[in-house]
Amino acid sequence: MSDPHILNARANKSLGQHFLFDPDILNRTALSAGPVEGRTVIEVGPGPGGLTAALLRNGAKKVIAVEMDARFAENLRSWKEYKEGRLSVIEGDGLSLDYPKLVEGEDKPVKIIANLPYNVGTPMLINWIKSGSWRGEMGLMFQHEVAARVCAQPGEKHYGRLAVLSQAVANTHIAFTLPPGAFKPPPKVDSSVAVLMPLPEDKKYTHLSTLEQVTGAAFGQRRKMLRASLKSLAKTKNMDASEWLESCDIDPTRRAETLEQFEFRALTEAFRVK
Ligand code: SAM
Repeated sequence: MSDPHILNARANKSLGQHFLFDPDILNRTALSAGPVEGRTVIEVGPGPGGLTAALLRNGAKKVIAVEMDARFAENLRSWKEYKEGRLSVIEGDGLSLDYPKLVEGEDKPVKIIANLPYNVGTPMLINWIKSGSWRGEMGLMFQHEVAARVCAQPGEKHYGRLAVLSQAVANTHIAFTLPPGAFKPPPKVDSSVAVLMPLPEDKKYTHLSTLEQVTGAAFGQRRKMLRASLKSLAKTKNMDASEWLESCDIDPTRRAETLEQFEFRALTEAFRVK
């Protein structure tokens, strides 16, 4: 476990450092996306290593820890699990890693379990979703609002592009929520663990860049009727927005926030093949 000097190290705000030390919370986070026994797990931002230790304690075959702060990477390299080969440490930016390459040769789908830095959590998730067919479960601690945006259903306040994109490849739910006081130093807002359980391969939607284009236009002007919000995008392919919507059995006067996943997929397919 961590060197006590590391635990007292000054948190670097620009790296979104808010640490967890409560063993029960760390266990719940480690197991939020199901058992880790016998599985390889990627953890972005291990910091002083509380969650890393919980993953190892719960039987992870291997933890690949990706950390930008050299102090923490160095500390992890002193752990016995590192020397035994159950812990590998990548010192660098978790945003610019080639994840599919990193997990090449793994027999079981690799999980991603992390208490993510607030400032880069969303782009990291989008990167994982879009980096081909990610097959492992994810349990990700975000600021609560981001977790709510991942898990929201049509008609809910936080339903938008991130929900549609995430749910194109996974079933999502919030495992639990923590108040700021659970972290040292405390952040300003609540945090929640969003769980993404991958859909079977044949149920995943794969044209994610086009889906992003369509949801970007639809939610970009979310108060407008779809026939208005999709007008400019439709024009790029010489389409009429109302006809496009009607061809997918969607009333052009509806708003983006009412559309189900299957309706966004239908719209994206109709746009893509045009
Ligand atoms: N997992 C630890 C815990 O729960 O106590 C620390 C979580 S803290 C919210 C986020 C961690 O991510 C910090 O250790 C920070 O240094 C690291 N970090 C920030 N940006 C990063 C990046 N782009 N790539 C990798 N690690 C990053």
